[in-house]
Amino acid sequence: MQGTGTRLRCDADSHPGLVRDNNEDLYYCDPEGGVFVVIDGVGGHAAGEKAADIACGVIRSRLGRAVCSVEERLREAIALANNEIFRQAGENGAWAGMSCVLTVAVVEGDTLTVGHVGDTRLYRIHDGRIEQLTRDHSFVGELVAGGLIAEREAMRHPRRNEITRDVGSAPHQPEDPCFIDISKHRFPKGCALLLCSDGLTDSVAAEEILSLVNGCPDDPSEVVRELIGAANAAGGADNVTVVYVTSSEACAEEGDAGAAAAASLRNGRGARPRVRRALRRRVACVTYGFLLAFACWSLLLWQSQMWGKPRAASGGEARTLIVNPRNPDAYASVNDALRQARAGDVVEVEPGEYSEKITERQVFVKK
Ligand code: MN
Repeated sequence: MQGTGTRLRCDADSHPGLVRDNNEDLYYCDPEGGVFVVIDGVGGHAAGEKAADIACGVIRSRLGRAVCSVEERLREAIALANNEIFRQAGENGAWAGMSCVLTVAVVEGDTLTVGHVGDTRLYRIHDGRIEQLTRDHSFVGELVAGGLIAEREAMRHPRRNEITRDVGSAPHQPEDPCFIDISKHRFPKGCALLLCSDGLTDSVAAEEILSLVNGCPDDPSEVVRELIGAANAAGGADNVTVVYVTSSEACAEEGDAGAAAAASLRNGRGARPRVRRALRRRVACVTYGFLLAFACWSLLLWQSQMWGKPRAASGGEARTLIVNPRNPDAYASVNDALRQARAGDVVEVEPGEYSEKITERQVFVKK
């Protein structure tokens, strides 16, 4: 199932995995319109599938009406989907509590706009690098974002499936804080996008994804097959969905055949079994692993310099941030320290004159 737009090439597939009978994941690809969606339904029995279906239908129809900016359309589409899922869950006991998580990517020229809720992910792959453009709204995702645990620890963390945001479990307005993340990025020619459900990222690390992608240059269908094969080779514990999009000039010549193929890719919850492929080791894995490690080390070094305070450790361990206006090595105000604190950090406030009176030592733990 391969689609070819005038500039965007895309392939996608969804697989139930090796443990579950049903597939609550769903994808939608429109390379002509530059819209790509991955949805992971949440709920018992068929409720997760129902929630994903509702979200997909609402988002497709709302995004198609180009009457305002793409950011506004994304917010409205996701909020409408949210409220429709909530409404239908209230009308049918079998669907009570259903919801979903989703990532929507809209490509216009070389600009990418992303709407995101939950722990589906969007990666941008370019110049031999892979960047996660979405933040997981999950308990474990917050620990990773706070630098408290690494990706590999997150992948085997017992609480990795606890999401902190979803679409459909409570009513929302488009502008609600702590609901939809909207972000804008560059998407130049030669770049690739990967949207996926947690069935991939819980079992295949980013550097391994990069290695597999680099092993199939210019072949989106091979990339999709390899990634789903890797998730299943790692146990196939969850439904796994992959949408892979490349941007190139070469595909402009492929014309009508591509448009016909694109139509077949519009909506899918592929249930057909795939042959499990053995993972092939590649030299690129080592090379990019090294580059990734170097990038992480540079980032940590840069962050430790940015904090500029001697008490800020450069690692991911919980720190103690001291507040004492009379000590030039400590933070001058409670708010300064709290702003710099990450999850798990302790802020210790020494007695002194602040905008509020502090007569005894106070301790805050950033959650
Ligand atoms: Mn999942």
